[in-house]
Amino acid sequence: MTLSVETHAVSPSVAARLDLPPHVFVDGQALPALSGRTIPVLDPASGRRIGTAACGDPADVDRAVQAATRAFDPASPWRAMTPLERGKVLHRIGDAVLERADEFAELEVLDAGKVRGAARGIDVDFAARCFHYFAGWPTKIVGSTVPTSHPGVHIATEKDPVGVVGAITAWNFPLLLCGWKIAPALAAGCTVVLKPSEETPHSALWLAELAVEAGLPAGVLNVVPGRGQEAGQALVDHADVDKITFTGSTAVGKEIARRAADQVKRVTLELGGKSANIIFADADLDAAVEGSAGGIFWHSGQTCSAPSRLFVHRSVHDRVVEKLRAIADDLRPGHGLDETTELGPLVNESQQRKVAGHVRLAREQGASVHVGPAVPGEGFFHPATVISDARDDMACATEEIFGPVLTVLPFDDVDEVLRRADASEYGLAAGIWTRDVSIAHRATRALRAGTVYVNGWGLTDPAAPFGGYRQSGYGRDLGPDALEGYLETKSVWTFHG
Ligand code: NAD
Repeated sequence: MTLSVETHAVSPSVAARLDLPPHVFVDGQALPALSGRTIPVLDPASGRRIGTAACGDPADVDRAVQAATRAFDPASPWRAMTPLERGKVLHRIGDAVLERADEFAELEVLDAGKVRGAARGIDVDFAARCFHYFAGWPTKIVGSTVPTSHPGVHIATEKDPVGVVGAITAWNFPLLLCGWKIAPALAAGCTVVLKPSEETPHSALWLAELAVEAGLPAGVLNVVPGRGQEAGQALVDHADVDKITFTGSTAVGKEIARRAADQVKRVTLELGGKSANIIFADADLDAAVEGSAGGIFWHSGQTCSAPSRLFVHRSVHDRVVEKLRAIADDLRPGHGLDETTELGPLVNESQQRKVAGHVRLAREQGASVHVGPAVPGEGFFHPATVISDARDDMACATEEIFGPVLTVLPFDDVDEVLRRADASEYGLAAGIWTRDVSIAHRATRALRAGTVYVNGWGLTDPAAPFGGYRQSGYGRDLGPDALEGYLETKSVWTFHG
């Protein structure tokens, strides 16, 4: 049996989640926000309201931080748990996500405007894999003994969890970012207060409930939906929060870093990007074009590492542009719950206006703009768009657009393109397409980005660190580096007397 949420059929369990009274999840319980205020949640593909979220404020954040602080007490059930038990809980959380994979995927389609197949195969699957990967770490967090010239002294290092973590996440990967932030924090033994984006709160709230069912003690993971300026800021400012891990825009990341500095609070920032992607003349052109188009048009360009600046060797430039235009024309836009949809909407109306403004400006500045099929009806869509005949200094080549908009720029030689590709305030990802191994090595060394892809684009792995150079942020999510970000190192000196 299926129920209809406005325009599309959704499964009963998802409809039931969307119908839940607006709530925060604190100390193992779903509770209304203290103020009783709410935020409407819209389906980006129809523009219609599909649910209502609690609008948590500083009082709700305080309540959640108090719960997380109690759960971090040295005598708490969480701190008493052995590393092996902690790993098993993480594993069960990953299993619980996979058991409800189809429902989670539907929720992500409805909250974030995703396409069902990608939501299931990428977002949900990767979130689960984060928990499964980090489940292996608690038993492998070790200190060391320190060689010392002091007689009669033994020095050893221990790794301590950093404490209460405030996690603030973006709307583009609501569940997946929970995996990126929460799994390593729990593996390290921390407790967490998560503030998901106000646009996309549902999957994080459900995950927190499932985590308790999987054996996570109450108070270890708390979720407070709310607005950035209120709940987000309160989390950053709270004196009992030891670390902030943030994924979002560079502008908000800078504000968080400034505020956190007042308390010398640990901060990890995963911010925006304008990732460069280079197709050399000797590349497998079909693979390069497919990969590059997939990278920018997937999730309608709303990915932080989107390869939105494409440099193409002049000898193959026109052919590549032609192929890219054909792909833009062929992508089927629509609602993410329709099985045939390949291009979903943007997350909201203001994002839609922003993207359209960028395209308009590029046209006014003299660039050639090729626009794919428009989407009839409501919803916050923008067609797949290929901009060519642009210059490196135009906004379409320097600013993060966060839409399905690709700017193509020709180049003539290797040194020139590496210099131009690197002339960005960002440094999240970069890509090169070539069969020449020496060019590949030169480029991977020269490009200042946290991830460099050679002859491919877009994969991530829970074991591979992910993060930015320059204004794309600092610290790393995923892999051992992420875990390290949730640990302190303590030197223990024992005097033998
Ligand atoms: P955003 O910065 O507007 O919001 C991100 C989160 O921060 C939301 O939960 C929001 O409520 C909160 N927030 C807003 N103002 C705040 C404040 N003053 N104090 C504390 N919290 C505040 O970003 P967005 O529009 O949700 O997401 C898009 C951005 O995220 C893009 O720039 C994208 O590149 C970036 N992103 C980066 C990565 C990465 O790993 N580097 C991954 C995904 C998205």
